Amino acid sequence: MLGLTVLGSGSQGNALVVHGPEGALLLDAGLSLRELRRRMAAAGIEETALQAVVVSHEHADHITGLGPLVNTLKLPVYCNRGTGLSVCEHRIAPGSLKLFAAGCTFAVGGLSVSPFSIPHDASDPVGFVISADGLKIGVATDLGYASGLVLHHLADCDLLVLECNHDVEMLRQSSRPWSVKHRILGRHGHLSNDACMTLMGQVLRPRTRQLVLAHASRECNRYELIAEMTARQLAALNRTDVHAHVARQDDVLPTLWVG
Ligand SMILES: [Zn+2]
Ligand SMILES: [Zn+2]
Repeated sequence: MLGLTVLGSGSQGNALVVHGPEGALLLDAGLSLRELRRRMAAAGIEETALQAVVVSHEHADHITGLGPLVNTLKLPVYCNRGTGLSVCEHRIAPGSLKLFAAGCTFAVGGLSVSPFSIPHDASDPVGFVISADGLKIGVATDLGYASGLVLHHLADCDLLVLECNHDVEMLRQSSRPWSVKHRILGRHGHLSNDACMTLMGQVLRPRTRQLVLAHASRECNRYELIAEMTARQLAALNRTDVHAHVARQDDVLPTLWVG
């Protein structure tokens, strides 16, 4: 069995739960402890089911609730060395850190987790392919662009979580400082809606049946725009059999089961 619950996703906080045969993993803890608990309860997820937290990178929208959560629930934190050095500053006991290396698969909670490097302005950011029972979920948000390595790992997944961060024109017209716009649009920033649509065309495979568009910017994107663009792109790709879901910042998505 393999499933995914998006507790929340967007530039103000990200947390996903991956359900496996022996429990669940929290993938990033970018919401407050209170919100994480409230949303897990709303989704019917028992806190005792959580086996570990797996962290993609150290930006606040991915680790805000990490320290309080793991200290309260006594959970191990899986991250790589670069992320771990930053994470330790957030009152996480070094003893609870379990280090992985990008490119090396590890097992936790009956799930096989394969981290891979992504182009983004953090210490050592990663995306993940998580698998169980021959089923695969690919997760890649916080991407400046879709590198060859990203394309390689995301190909052939049953469910994909792809970043659809901003509409380039909305970002250009926004009141954000030029330096921030430059960062977001850069090779180590975030994936635009247009780039996400291109990525979709590159990584969808016949087995890919579910898609989550995630990490939308609150000010420089609209959920309706993402949904429209995705529907248009899936139709153009002749893939109307793919179910697409737009992740929300403030709401939990119903759990998606794979297979
Ligand atoms: Zn980030
Ligand atoms: Zn982020």
